Amino acid sequence: MRIFEPHIHMVSRVTEDYEVMAAAGVELILEPAFWLGEPRKRLGTFLDYFDSLLGFEVTRARNYNIEHVCTIAINPREANNRALAEEVFPHLDAYLKNDRCVGVGEIGYDDITEAEEEFLRRQLDLARVHGLPALVHTPHRRKAYGTARTIDVCREVGFPIDRLLLDHATEETVKMILDSGAWCGFTIYPNTKLTPERATNMLLEYGVDRMMINSSADWGPSTTMSVPYTCVEMRRRGIDAATISRLVWDNPFAFYNVTGRLSKLKAW
Ligand SMILES: [Zn+2]
Repeated sequence: MRIFEPHIHMVSRVTEDYEVMAAAGVELILEPAFWLGEPRKRLGTFLDYFDSLLGFEVTRARNYNIEHVCTIAINPREANNRALAEEVFPHLDAYLKNDRCVGVGEIGYDDITEAEEEFLRRQLDLARVHGLPALVHTPHRRKAYGTARTIDVCREVGFPIDRLLLDHATEETVKMILDSGAWCGFTIYPNTKLTPERATNMLLEYGVDRMMINSSADWGPSTTMSVPYTCVEMRRRGIDAATISRLVWDNPFAFYNVTGRLSKLKAW
């Protein structure tokens, strides 16, 4: 089964991770722009990072027959450095025109501050202007409140809800997200946060329409293999191969191909 991994931070991984993912059937990955552990202090480090998402990581992935695309944004955490975020903001436009950039993200709330909300609104506007989907990080603390607030902001700025992906959903937020008309993402970790078992419970309950699963594989304890591992769990629990294929390929492809940029990459 071929897999599109729609949220993975390869910048924090070693090259062997690409090899292991390729062996498990991963053919396409999306790396959203986020933070780099150490807070950035200058504009140039943002721009070099964006360049690496559109340059070096693409080459690193290609060595394993994996296509690498990205989303670009000022992440919620670093939106709190307002002065620096203001410097970065005017540069986003040029990156969003790149064919390998298929959305705006990660945006949203982390600590649910005023600065985070301001950059959420402004970047949803940017996504609308560019006709791109938006990848939203929902906060790990006060998740239900942050998710509801994000849906409200999306409506207030007139961003089309069917182009909004609310990621890091849990049992607490899945129903609210699906009821809103947005897409719902489950970020799956080996032990902490959401496990393959819990994600499968929700997929059995709610089905796979407007759903995606991903690994994130960021700086904390994580694996690049959460999507293949969850496929194994779903099969074990009786979900058929065609349904799993919709979840791990058709859904993320349809969501991120709204501009046709994924279709342009190659004959899939
Ligand atoms: Zn992320």
